[in-house]
Amino acid sequence: MVTLARIRDDADEILPGVVADRRYLHENPELGFQEFNTARFVADRLESLGVEDIRTGINVTGITGLIRGTGAGPGEDRVVLVRADMDALPILETNKVDYRSKNDGVMHACGHDAHTAMLLGVTRLLLDRRDKFSGTVKVLFQPSEEAGPGGAKGMIEEGVLENPRVDTVLGLHVSSRLDTGRISVGDGPIMAAADSFKITIQGKGGHGAYPHTAVDPVVIGSHIVVALQTLVSREVDPTDQAVVSACAFKAGEAFNVIPDTAMLGGTVRTFVAKNRDLLETRLNELATGIASAMGGTATVEYSRGYPSVINDQETSDLVREAAREVVGEDNLDMGKPRMGAEDFSYFALERPGCFFNVGTGSEAKDSQWAHHHPRFDVDEDGMAQGIATMATAAVMRLNQG
Ligand code: MN
Repeated sequence: MVTLARIRDDADEILPGVVADRRYLHENPELGFQEFNTARFVADRLESLGVEDIRTGINVTGITGLIRGTGAGPGEDRVVLVRADMDALPILETNKVDYRSKNDGVMHACGHDAHTAMLLGVTRLLLDRRDKFSGTVKVLFQPSEEAGPGGAKGMIEEGVLENPRVDTVLGLHVSSRLDTGRISVGDGPIMAAADSFKITIQGKGGHGAYPHTAVDPVVIGSHIVVALQTLVSREVDPTDQAVVSACAFKAGEAFNVIPDTAMLGGTVRTFVAKNRDLLETRLNELATGIASAMGGTATVEYSRGYPSVINDQETSDLVREAAREVVGEDNLDMGKPRMGAEDFSYFALERPGCFFNVGTGSEAKDSQWAHHHPRFDVDEDGMAQGIATMATAAVMRLNQG
């Protein structure tokens, strides 16, 4: 495993360049589907590194490129796709760092700046050792992970998994909740499907002093909110995980007027199709049933967001083996499922894949703020382990045949 040990050392060696890229991207964040400057930066880098078949403008700002191995080996026809996301969030950064966002109100508060810079680092390491593997690595930079419908789906529709045909997909996310130097790899469903619902309750408005002449949508809505709490507790298999949260409840303005309508909105998180279907159906039945029993009506708009990220067992095992080479068994975590969502799921639905977490949380570096917080930051030292793990996993996969 001499080659693999060298990947780790080389990742450390190129880290200053990766840090510089990450800081440039951090200073110049762009929202989803507007990553034009970011995409130009990435394409320029790929070109100067010598990546082949660079394609730009896929689903607005997406980019792919190929690294073809020149070595002999069993993986000749194999294609491993390695993915990063490029978009930032509509957040005003409150960090005082000298690389803080220059685009007020837009901030890389989820680490996608690090993902993009890290994938450029992975590209560099793989190009440097092309003779050590056969087969192809396809690098992919996608737009808009944060905002639905997401950038991944459209890129797949534009054919990024073909020509050449991709057979394994890999992705990573930095995590402020995981200590720098640690890697976390989960099995099976590891991130939730995220759906949203809007319930419009039609009652009959009236005077607050004469409720018997009205149909109160606030009371109907309240019953619906309480009933929704029984979906997960009474209807989902207790050994599964799911969440139903009513997060918005809007009705009325005046203290003495029963409003005509009320609106409820919220999110539903599940890991398996069975529960996703169950909750959609039952949420509908509860809302409409309760409203009609109380003399009103309810209209439910249920929209399905990103599906669950499901790691392929063999691919997770491979990434875990790569992570062991890089950080050692003691720094490897079994990833716990998370209720958050990720549109990497679309890639993992199409091909066997693995999405794993790279620790960038450090108390000393003040990088333990939650993702999407205006003070979120990345301990850049952790990027080296992520780069080395990703590059190692890709080489291992290609050498597997
Ligand atoms: Mn993210």
